[in-house]
Amino acid sequence: MKCKVCGEEAEIKFTAKILYKYDIEYFFCRNCKYLFAGNPFWLEESYRRPINLSDTGLLSRNQYFACLVTVLIYFFFNKKGKFLDYAGGYGVFTRLMRDNGFDFYWNDPFSTNLLAAGFEYDIKSGDKIELLTAFELFEHFTDPSETNKLLAISRNIIFSTQLLPEPIPEPDKWWYYGFEHGQHISFYSKETLQFIARKNNLNFYSALGLHFFTEKRINRIKLYLLLMFAVLGLNRLVRISMGSKTEKDNVLMSRRENPN
Ligand SMILES: [Zn+2]
Repeated sequence: MKCKVCGEEAEIKFTAKILYKYDIEYFFCRNCKYLFAGNPFWLEESYRRPINLSDTGLLSRNQYFACLVTVLIYFFFNKKGKFLDYAGGYGVFTRLMRDNGFDFYWNDPFSTNLLAAGFEYDIKSGDKIELLTAFELFEHFTDPSETNKLLAISRNIIFSTQLLPEPIPEPDKWWYYGFEHGQHISFYSKETLQFIARKNNLNFYSALGLHFFTEKRINRIKLYLLLMFAVLGLNRLVRISMGSKTEKDNVLMSRRENPN
């Protein structure tokens, strides 16, 4: 089978049981080090529950990423711009980032916006988005060219996906394969993501579980230092400097609910 990222010939790496019933072949491309399910026909069955029941890390992951992204945007991007959490799930991340003072919006055709209602983003609007976030999304792509849809919205993307370890783990040795829910079908190594960045004339950076494609050139030492400071609490200072939107949004939404 041809690699869905670089087009080179990919070879069968292993067979695994998906949803406890389907024996599926996984292919690996030696050229760009991308591992993928050959023909994922079971996805509809997999997505009957959009956020799988075993995802106990949902809140702690969002808090962690909000802490890092707050600092990244403040120091490297136009902090007064508009931002989008693509495939934003229940709206947890959008709300957290608005609480930290950033004009964040939500979009997700497969989920209900529970926490950031009123801040939906219409992709067709073409409104300029300074930077887009996409957490735990890339591993769901049937075809990695789906990245192009994101790049059409913004050329700056911060995302998370677990990088494929080397050597490639056996099917029963890596929880991230998620064969029991069958939603993870694309696994990237650093080389795969570098390949995608080069193909799109973008720079690629990766640190502390976050990856980014961006037009900007970022000093890696500055990046690591700022992320370390973020973990130590720099995000709180940024929040004070930005001015939280928690109360402003409350006033805005109350007015919208009461036309008088
Ligand atoms: Zn490849």
